[in-house]
Amino acid sequence: TSSSFLPLKCGAGIDIRETQDENTSNPMMGIHNINPDLLQQMVYDALVWCSLHGLVVGDKSVQNSGIVPGVGMKHAPFALLPTSFPQTQWQQACDLMCIFNELIDRVSLDGNFLQDTLSRTKRVDVFTSRLLDIHSMMLEIKKKEEIRLGLHRSDYMLDDQTKDLLQIELNTISSSFPGLGCLVSELHSNLLNHYGDHVGLQSGRVPGNTALTGYADALGQAWKEYNDPRAVVMVVVQTEERNMYDQHWLSTVLKERHAVTTIRKTLAEVDSEGELLPDGTLLVGGQKVAVIYFRAGYAPSDYPSESEWEARLLMECSSAVKCPSISYHLAGTKKIQQELAKPNVLERFLENKDEIAKLRKCFAGLWSLDDPHAVRDALERPELYVLKPQREGGGNNIYGNNVRETLLKLQDGSEEQAAYILMQRIFPIASPTFLVRDGICHQDLAISELGIYGAYLRNKQKVIVNSQSGYLVRTKVSSSNEGGVAAGFAVLDSIYLT
Ligand code: ADP
Ligand code: MG
Ligand code: MG
Repeated sequence: TSSSFLPLKCGAGIDIRETQDENTSNPMMGIHNINPDLLQQMVYDALVWCSLHGLVVGDKSVQNSGIVPGVGMKHAPFALLPTSFPQTQWQQACDLMCIFNELIDRVSLDGNFLQDTLSRTKRVDVFTSRLLDIHSMMLEIKKKEEIRLGLHRSDYMLDDQTKDLLQIELNTISSSFPGLGCLVSELHSNLLNHYGDHVGLQSGRVPGNTALTGYADALGQAWKEYNDPRAVVMVVVQTEERNMYDQHWLSTVLKERHAVTTIRKTLAEVDSEGELLPDGTLLVGGQKVAVIYFRAGYAPSDYPSESEWEARLLMECSSAVKCPSISYHLAGTKKIQQELAKPNVLERFLENKDEIAKLRKCFAGLWSLDDPHAVRDALERPELYVLKPQREGGGNNIYGNNVRETLLKLQDGSEEQAAYILMQRIFPIASPTFLVRDGICHQDLAISELGIYGAYLRNKQKVIVNSQSGYLVRTKVSSSNEGGVAAGFAVLDSIYLT
C-alpha cells in the first residue's frame, strides 16, 4: 500500500487511547481513534497539496529564502483538520465586522480623540510617539484623506466557560494571511472531500473563505478610485520576508482580476527613490503610486534609521491611498481598544444602539494601569490577566507571574504605566489537534483564535466597500502564551462549523 513508503513520522503518539465521551458534541473528538495509516496518508496528501498550491513560506535555513521568490520554500505550518467552532458565534463574529470597519473610520476622523487618548503613552513609548508626531503634522496641515481604505482583521477567542466570543484585538495594519488562510480552508475542504467519511467529518461544514479575493478586490477598487490608469499599487515590505507568498498571492490576484501592477519597496527604498510632486502625487522609482499597502512599518524594528521615518512621512503627505493611513494605524492600537471599551465611548462614534450593544458584547475586560482596582486584582491573580504594550506582530505580551513582577516594577503613578494596558485573559477550550510543521505531524492539545477579515473603502461620503471578507484561524499548543504563526508558535487552520 502507499502508506508503507511514506517518509513521514508522527510525533507524540497517534495511537491515542484516552477515552472520550462518546456522545460529545465535538466532532473532532472522533479523530482520537484515527487509524495511523490513514493519518499518514492524509498528512502526505496535505503536504503534496500545500506544495502544489502555494501554501508555502520561506525556509529560514535557506539563504535568500526571504528575498528571492522560489528559493527555499517549505509548506506553511498547518493543522491537519479544521477546528470545531459553533455556528452561532461564527455568525456573530462575521456580523461584527462591518460595524468595526465603520467604527475605525469614524475614530480615525477624530484627531483629538486619538491624540488625547494616546497622550500619556506618547511620553513613555518612543515608537507610538513618532507615529503621533506624523499624525500631529497631518492635523496641522489639515491633511484630507478622501479615499480611505481599511484592510482589517478582528481576532477573537471563544471563552470556554461562558462560550462568549471575545475580541483579542483589531489589526488595522499589515493584517496577515489573507492569501495563505484561504488556501488552508481549501486544503481542509479538499482533505474532507476525500477522507471525510473515514474521519466522520463533512467538507461542507468548512465555510468558504473569500479573504484573498476580498482584499484584492478592495485594493483594486481603491486603485480605481484614485483614477490614474498608469499608477501602481505599492506594497511596503520588510527587507527580508519569509511570508512573501501570502503577499504575492494578493499581488497576483490583483493583477489577474483588476489588471493592476504591484511594486514592492522597503521603507528605505521609498526614502531613496520617492518624491512628491507639488500636487501631492507620490512617485517611487519614477512610478506613480495610487495605493500604498503596508506589510511593514508596524514595528519599531522596521525603522532602524531616520530614513524609514522620513519615508513614512513622505507617504503620509502624498495623495496616494494609504492602507493604513496614520490615523487608521493609530485607531488600531491597544490603548485605543481599551479606551473604546470604557462606558459611553462607543456612543461618541456610533448612533445605532443595537450595533453598540453588539460590539460591547464582544469586549473582554480591558483596563488602564491607573485603575487601582484592576491592578490590585492583577497583582493577586496575575494568571487571569495579560499585560500588553503598544506593539504589533506577536511576542510582546506579558503573562502569569511576569504580570505581577512588571506591575510591581511600574510603581504607583509612574509614567511608564501608560505604555501598557491590562486585559482579561481569555481561556478557550483546548482540543486534541494534529499540527503539521516541517513535514512532521504532532498531536497536542491546542487552542484557536479566529480572525475575521474586513475591507472598507470610501471616497468622501460614498462607502464603496464595507464587508466581511473571509477568515483565518490560528491554532497553537495550549501551553504556549503567544500565537504568532511566523514566530513559530502557531499553525494556520480553518473552522468546522458545529
Ligand atoms: P499582537 O498585535 O502582537 O498580535 P495580540 O493582542 O493579538 O497582539 O496578542 C498576541 C497573542 O497573545 C494573541 O494572538 C493571543 O494568542 C494571545 N493573547 C492576547 N490577548 C489575550 C487574552 N486576553 N487572553 C488570552 N490570550 C491572549
Ligand atoms: Mg495585532
Ligand atoms: Mg494579534
